[in-house]
Amino acid sequence: MKPALLAALLISAAPAIAQQSVASLPPPVVTDPRIAALRDNARDNDRYAWDVVEGLTTEVGQRLAATEAEARARDWAVKKLTAMGFANVHVEPFDMPVWVRGTESAEIVSPFPQKIAVAALGYSGSTPPEGITGQLVYFDSVDALRAAPDSAVAGKIVFIDHHMIPTQDGIGYGQFGAPRRQGPTIASLKGAIGVVVRSIGTDHHRNPHTGVQYFTDGAKPIPAGALPVPDAEQLVRILKRGQPVTMHLTLVSQKSEGGHSGNVIAEVPGRDPNAPILLIGGHLDSWDLATGAIDDGAGVAITTAAAKHIMDAGRPLRTIRVVWFGAEEPGGFGGNAYAKAHGAEKYAIAGESDFGADNIWRFATKLSTTDPTTYEALAAALAPLGIAKNDKGEADGTDVGPTIEAGAPWISLNQDGTRYFDVHHTPDDTLDKIDPMQLRQNVAAWTTVLAILSGGIESGPKQPKRR
Ligand SMILES: [Zn+2]
Repeated sequence: MKPALLAALLISAAPAIAQQSVASLPPPVVTDPRIAALRDNARDNDRYAWDVVEGLTTEVGQRLAATEAEARARDWAVKKLTAMGFANVHVEPFDMPVWVRGTESAEIVSPFPQKIAVAALGYSGSTPPEGITGQLVYFDSVDALRAAPDSAVAGKIVFIDHHMIPTQDGIGYGQFGAPRRQGPTIASLKGAIGVVVRSIGTDHHRNPHTGVQYFTDGAKPIPAGALPVPDAEQLVRILKRGQPVTMHLTLVSQKSEGGHSGNVIAEVPGRDPNAPILLIGGHLDSWDLATGAIDDGAGVAITTAAAKHIMDAGRPLRTIRVVWFGAEEPGGFGGNAYAKAHGAEKYAIAGESDFGADNIWRFATKLSTTDPTTYEALAAALAPLGIAKNDKGEADGTDVGPTIEAGAPWISLNQDGTRYFDVHHTPDDTLDKIDPMQLRQNVAAWTTVLAILSGGIESGPKQPKRR
């Protein structure tokens, strides 16, 4: 653009802007300095979240749902939350099936013999200990598999590919997750003897991404595994050579009824026991391949730390309830059990953290329509953390979802998901993937939300700072 033209545009635009700034802009929203101080203290000094996620991942490790490891995690949680000064710390148990992984391996038998890395998907059927051998049949997507005649699939091992790439909002997980979620059922109904999918992940490491799937519509369970992205790409190259490809697949696993899990609940009691409460949390269970640092040790750590910062500041009007949900990964068992027991209670907000620990970049809440004044106050107080309001956002969260469906108003704080699916559900989901500075930004954001929605914090005698 020519400078003269640009100048003319600027001049012609100027009066309109000036006019609007005087007459029609809403009054400025100024954040209460006490809330700003709480936010900035959490951002600069929080140690609670790191302390929780470091302790949980180090002292418990992996926490597969309904196993003895998850039970140890609940014991750890009760001790930790009690030591931090929370009230009403208790476990609410529930029953569920338990699925555990056994021996697993895969190799190409012909035409180019070689090992392929693999991990079973949740609720996979089991191969016999010696494994199965079958010809591979390739599909570019679940839709391609669905369109195939049964005769193309029967007696074979199905391989389903996809094309997920990293995005900030993680939008690909829904669509590109179909091979994992629906692929095994469709393959089984068409008579396949096994199924392997390209991992629902965006990294290029040799780590398979596990995750849950269910056999529905009467499909009989068949062995179902995930291949790391580089191994899936290797398999595509091998298949492109045009010769029949035979795979030997061993995926031993066990499923049984009669497992036990539970939700761990803790509170910062409000001054008014009848005021609608603030429900926040994350999930305590993890997949079994790693220590579940980003999924979801970080989520329980962030929300617990935020509640603790309010506790340190004094007594909120509303009760803050923190839930470390059990058994989210195999299908949201903890969230459903919680809603069954507590869905009819009155909530001022419900929200969860379950998308890692990178910076929160936007938020959305039902309050944008039901309570615009509070929405603008949240937006103003979160803006210094780099968090934008998202007017079109939706409720999310497996754990608080059923409680939201029962009527609780929701808030979603969205972390940057660009690198989330690099480690999600892999052996790489470990503590070193958490950036302590970004973790503190998360704590600051949740602390701000709690402070604004608390109904006011009455400073009393200081709580001792216990860890
Ligand atoms: Zn999770």
